[in-house]
Amino acid sequence: MAKDFLKGVKDHYDVIVIGSGLAGMTGANVLAKAGYSVLLLEHHYQLGGMATWFKRRGGHIFDISLHGFPVGMIKSCRKYWTQEIADSIVQLKGIRFENPQFSLRTTFDRKDFTRLITEKFNIPFETVDEFFSAARKMNFYDDQSTTTRELFERFFPGRSDVVRLLMEPITYANGSTLDDPAITYGIVFSNFMSKGVFTFQGGTDALVTKMRAELERNGVDVRIRSLVEQIEIDENRQVQAVHVNGRRIGCQSVLSNSNIKSTILNLVGPEHFDPEFVEETRAVRLNNSSCQVYIALKPGVGFDNCGDLLFHSEHEGFDIQAMLSKDVSSRTFSFYYPETRPGSDRWMVVSSTNANYRDWADLSEEQYQHDKQQLCEDTLNCLEKYVPDIRQKVDWVEASTPCTFKHYTRHMQGASFGTKFEGLKVSQTLPEQVQGLFHAGSVGIIMSGWLGAVNYGVIVANEVDKYLTPAEATV
Ligand SMILES: Cc1cc2nc3c(=O)[nH]c(=O)nc-3n(C[C@H](O)[C@H](O)[C@H](O)COP(=O)(O)OP(=O)(O)OC[C@H]3O[C@@H](n4cnc5c(N)ncnc54)[C@H](O)[C@@H]3O)c2cc1C
Repeated sequence: MAKDFLKGVKDHYDVIVIGSGLAGMTGANVLAKAGYSVLLLEHHYQLGGMATWFKRRGGHIFDISLHGFPVGMIKSCRKYWTQEIADSIVQLKGIRFENPQFSLRTTFDRKDFTRLITEKFNIPFETVDEFFSAARKMNFYDDQSTTTRELFERFFPGRSDVVRLLMEPITYANGSTLDDPAITYGIVFSNFMSKGVFTFQGGTDALVTKMRAELERNGVDVRIRSLVEQIEIDENRQVQAVHVNGRRIGCQSVLSNSNIKSTILNLVGPEHFDPEFVEETRAVRLNNSSCQVYIALKPGVGFDNCGDLLFHSEHEGFDIQAMLSKDVSSRTFSFYYPETRPGSDRWMVVSSTNANYRDWADLSEEQYQHDKQQLCEDTLNCLEKYVPDIRQKVDWVEASTPCTFKHYTRHMQGASFGTKFEGLKVSQTLPEQVQGLFHAGSVGIIMSGWLGAVNYGVIVANEVDKYLTPAEATV
């Protein structure tokens, strides 16, 4: 008989969290610590969503999205998770750019970027300083009509090299383009520039294992292999229950970490919302997806230090269409050394490229397999520039595509970074449409990435808390 992954589950919870991405897990943790009964439902066999890993024969462990996040993760993990988790966050100092316009290494913080832009790109210090201050001051309530392109044009007119330095890493970090609102750029860029790029020592598996232990310590009922099929709403537009693995579980509120569009259009259904809200939801643009190539070296075999993150491009200038093209000319290499998992003897490389879902989803199975193989080959050819004898050293190579991300996280079109900016408003106004229904997860560019997802999980958990305990009940 098939295993019942919901064995022992209660009939009713204060909150049901759908999805165990970083926003879902953080929201669940905050609410459990506040004393609510919380059920966390995840369709996959492991927690983490995009913050995940996989193992392969020979003891190889590959991280999917552990490439770098801003220093703010330390504070967020200390406040909303544990001191132990926060203490494992360390800086990555070797960020490299290799492209036809420039070749450089940086610690990716304001001081070093100011030095580079003034000394290497010959821009006056005052201009650079003003640019950093303008980006730093940006916040969500500012003018949203100025685009990132206009922001760059104001400070660095005609300087495609400077724009590339400032923009390429952010495009890799959250899929944003020059046409997105400048505030999304300013907020994310300034988060990184504050102190540089950080990582979790021990790997994503260690992080998520610690998070799961903390969730369970705080009383969250955690269930994997549990696919939510429906969020049940009554005639007064109030959340009643979720249907999961063919079973109904009652609840006072739902915090969905599933993609915002699928939450509204598939899990609830358009008939439960105002028609204008449905239109607004349908109009939300998904962000792009990704391809990755995972390369493990033979045990104990390494390479000379190549830096930690290398933005490689063969393209003449910053060009978002070229970055998304299936005909890859730009890649980010993450180099992992044994220190990533102290005590290990493994060197690994993960190559990431932004990608369009349709370029992969419409292929025949045969063509799909062929193109994945080709992607592995092309990536090894490119990597040879940095690790000349990679082909002799390699023990395992495989690729993932937008279809892989869709399969494991159920994001529409495998969106790696949720939605474009307009998705944030839909996510935030969801509870005005259906009482007790909340969403937290990658939306609006600024709420994606590890830090954005964790922080949005906290923000929305506070909203759920207010809903469950109205102000008059607490006095
Ligand atoms: C290739 C790649 C590289 C990245 N690199 C970085 C990086 O270096 N730094 C960084 O900060 N960010 C990075 N990111 C982005 C970052 O990983 C994500 O923004 C973040 O992890 C998303 O968290 P989330 O809370 O939105 O949930 P998600 O990770 O999207 O998780 C949602 C969860 O909900 C579950 N779910 C969905 N529907 C259902 C359902 N009906 N029933 C049950 N469960 C359901 C899914 O299975 C999933 O576990 C990267 C992303 C990708 C794809």
